[in-house]
Amino acid sequence: MPNTQDPTPMKPFIAGNWKMHKTAGEAVAFAQALAGELNAAQDRDIVIAPPFTALHAVSRSLAGSGIKVAAQNLHWEREGAYTGEISAAMAVEAGCSYAIIGHSERRKLFGEKDEEINRKLKSVLASGLGPIFCIGENLEDRDAGRTLAVLGSQLRKGLDSLTRRDIMETVIAYEPVWAIGTGRAATPGQAQEAHAFIRQTLGKMFDAPPAGIPVIYGGSVSPGNIRSLMEQPDINGVLVGGASLDVDSFVRIVNFDK
Ligand code: PEP
Repeated sequence: MPNTQDPTPMKPFIAGNWKMHKTAGEAVAFAQALAGELNAAQDRDIVIAPPFTALHAVSRSLAGSGIKVAAQNLHWEREGAYTGEISAAMAVEAGCSYAIIGHSERRKLFGEKDEEINRKLKSVLASGLGPIFCIGENLEDRDAGRTLAVLGSQLRKGLDSLTRRDIMETVIAYEPVWAIGTGRAATPGQAQEAHAFIRQTLGKMFDAPPAGIPVIYGGSVSPGNIRSLMEQPDINGVLVGGASLDVDSFVRIVNFDK
């Protein structure tokens, strides 16, 4: 079901997930180079997610640039005996505007379950940050024809008991696990099918077509394939891993239509 009811086109939402790359010094130098190239673009939302150690310095260096900063993960409690974790309140103080929650690497390598992801989403929303909530099927699920069932389950469990107001603050990232870091992006048709399903499911769960919720695609996005993805009616932006680590390629992705 294409997003034809939306009368006002949404700004493209382009986010870069740096994962465990760049020291704080490297991150600030990169952020400044990016800000110089992108020159306070008003017509799109641009977000970068550096490692925790660089959040504060990068946020400060981006002041006035219009580029926002995201944490890559957060704990759901505000404080406590959780060695190695940081909270949403800490990310807010470090200058973050968003937090990536439920990335497939967190699910697969660190055993995050839908129930924990749900707690994290609630904590992020309560802190005033915008969650970038990641969902996606693995190759086995896709090959077995379970893609939409998996996405539906991740949406229902991850967003359980969130309000309509909460969902309007949330960005959904469809990231097929088999496309992440593999150089094999979903085809525009595969991505569109998943995005339309996500939008339709959100409409059912929150009792209205949530036309204002960005649904973005992630998985081997590059300067060469972004345009064909962004041409799809239900793709509102992208979450970029590897190609966000190079200024030139990330700038080309952000400026995909210029
Ligand atoms: C990601 O990690 O969210 C991602 C999309 O990575 P890549 O662009 O490298 O596939």
